[in-house]
Amino acid sequence: MIKKTIQLKIKEPDVFNFNFLRQEYSKTLNLGIEYIASQYPKKIKQSQLYNHLKPMVALPSSVLSEAVRLVRSRWITFCKQKKQHIKTSIPHFKNAVAVSFNNQNWTVHKISNTYFIGFPVNGSKPYFELALSQKQKDVLDKLIQKQIRPCAGQLLERKGKWYFFATIDFPEPVQISSTNVLGVDLGLNNLAVCYDKEQGKTIFFSGKEVRFRRTKYAARRKLLDKAKKLHAIKSKNKERRWMRDFNHKLSRQIVNLALKLKANINLENLKYIRTTAKSNHKQRQKLSSTLHNWPFDQLKRFIEYKAKELGIRVNLINSSYTSQECPKCHHIDSSNRNGNVFHCRACGYKSHADRVGAINIANRQPDDVVTASLPGIVYPSRDGLLGTAPNLRVAQTGNGQRASTT
Ligand SMILES: [Zn+2]
Repeated sequence: MIKKTIQLKIKEPDVFNFNFLRQEYSKTLNLGIEYIASQYPKKIKQSQLYNHLKPMVALPSSVLSEAVRLVRSRWITFCKQKKQHIKTSIPHFKNAVAVSFNNQNWTVHKISNTYFIGFPVNGSKPYFELALSQKQKDVLDKLIQKQIRPCAGQLLERKGKWYFFATIDFPEPVQISSTNVLGVDLGLNNLAVCYDKEQGKTIFFSGKEVRFRRTKYAARRKLLDKAKKLHAIKSKNKERRWMRDFNHKLSRQIVNLALKLKANINLENLKYIRTTAKSNHKQRQKLSSTLHNWPFDQLKRFIEYKAKELGIRVNLINSSYTSQECPKCHHIDSSNRNGNVFHCRACGYKSHADRVGAINIANRQPDDVVTASLPGIVYPSRDGLLGTAPNLRVAQTGNGQRASTT
């Protein structure tokens, strides 16, 4: 099952009762935390907490159950963090907290072409009209026809508007069964370089626009910083939204490309991205304030969940030395790469350096372990034997040879 949350806008919210519900909810949460803390180190059961809170607050019992669950899970997280000496403080809930409902407590109704959502408010379960896009209507139709299942829901306010966040269980899509692989290399120069293993084709997603925009943001902030702190923060948030938006679009393009090619995706394991970025010292210095903190982890997450929705598998690949390894003869040498040019010292193979990275990622298997143990590199081979010389890599695939020089 794949969980997805859709944001449903409530047309005419009952602001008075919504506000009351929310206040009671946050009051309940804080009282709950207070109670658990006062009983510490004694462990408090869910039912105990429920019975303690019940006479103190005016919440529908189903909403109270959700509050109890949230209090417990927050408290457990807090205790774990304490144990691990992570800096933390006793959970506190703001007045503007989102109110949670369980899957049985919200329902969608349709009357002709108008959709309503119902959830418990102030002792009854009123229905509210929704303002929806066609796409959202299609999802709700499936929900009404019981093709998909409702999960948790949340009522929350954003900038004076009220929304119901409905989480829905979608069935797993049919998995792509082809053997083709799209190798995706993420980096600073090109945000993403994709290599279609079957066709031997490379698709570049340039980082040019991103570099330009981020430099502009940074420059503007430098001016703003001195003038007005608040504006600087606003600019930072704006940049963050823009980056998120960009990552959404880029991940969509990559996933659609994989779908078109009927390919599963090989993506570098993020642990290594930052190291790769660091290795290029000059570039890092130049971009340190602007680009090297691009949210690649976010981009990766977007690619992963968008792919999953389409039945595309994402293999996480160890990407160590992907920029230094020759896809043709597997010779690894840091001097193979010089800026954007890859030139193999051993066999003379030449290509764009980022393209080589994508080819290597496409050629590797998810269970390939590449560990650097200076001065040599250890490649545990398929049969579990260790080979030490970097250029004696146990070759598991011949497809790299297909790569032509560009
Ligand atoms: Zn070579």
